[in-house]
Amino acid sequence: MTRTAFLHGLSFFALLAAASSGPGCGRPEAAPGPALDAANAWKHLEALVALGPRPPKSPALEATRAYLEAELARAGLTPVREAFEASTPVGTIALANVYADLAATNPAAERVYLATHFDTKLGIDGFVGANDGGSGTALLLELARAMKAAGPRELAYRFLFLDGEEATRAQWQGEDNCYGSRHHARALVKSGEAARVRAFVLLDMVGDRELGLLRETWSDRRLNDLFRAAAARIGDAALFTNEAQPIEDDHGPFLDAGIPSIDLIDFEYGPANAYWHTRDDSLAHCSQESLRRVGALVLAALPTLEREFRRGR
Ligand SMILES: [Zn+2]
Repeated sequence: MTRTAFLHGLSFFALLAAASSGPGCGRPEAAPGPALDAANAWKHLEALVALGPRPPKSPALEATRAYLEAELARAGLTPVREAFEASTPVGTIALANVYADLAATNPAAERVYLATHFDTKLGIDGFVGANDGGSGTALLLELARAMKAAGPRELAYRFLFLDGEEATRAQWQGEDNCYGSRHHARALVKSGEAARVRAFVLLDMVGDRELGLLRETWSDRRLNDLFRAAAARIGDAALFTNEAQPIEDDHGPFLDAGIPSIDLIDFEYGPANAYWHTRDDSLAHCSQESLRRVGALVLAALPTLEREFRRGR
């Protein structure tokens, strides 16, 4: 039973009758969309921050992977660990992405990625990455739970938690960054699966208490427009600033693989970005409300993306 049936002329009484005519016929309403619980996302963020800094080779990074796996399983999803070795300026490091798939109503459906990174940068004392690494991870866990609970959608989804986004050197240079995304995107290309990915949506630094997403200019223009229109539609156009700038991030390897991608990022964290990559990237400078707003944005944008967004158009 859908709301469309009602609009197409079924009377209210016919709907009532249909709703009560036997087991399994459901409610006379369209199935509700995913209901995001921002308090739940905030609890994840508190748990991640409590683990302490999560740089490569740390026990906290492994504890983070285990936390992701446990929470995805608790949401009824099947977590997959994608372990790999990264060759870095500080030696070969064992890393692992974690992901889970939500099947579509049609098993042959194309896939959309919702992604984030969960590691923190090496060598910064007290840097727990509440916003940088923590916020996207916390929100994506809650999005995965809410979307799984709401049931299959028109397209398949992969919730991808990326390891090794941060550079091991002080400066962001060459290929010393985005280790997890490069690994995953290259495997997609190699297997031929990349051609079946409709879009890649990255969440990064979305927890800033004073939130303002910019227009990231490497990102697919149509996706940038689609997400801005979705923000306006839910009455939160202020979620985006007028600023536009290119930022290298985990969407890069997916763009390189020919997949339309967008980086939803706030890169003005504190005055002149002063909290970024410092011990000031803390819970105190993030908010549950910011997570709620970005979660609402993503959920508002997805139906349009599923309906209107086609590759090569
Ligand atoms: Zn960072």
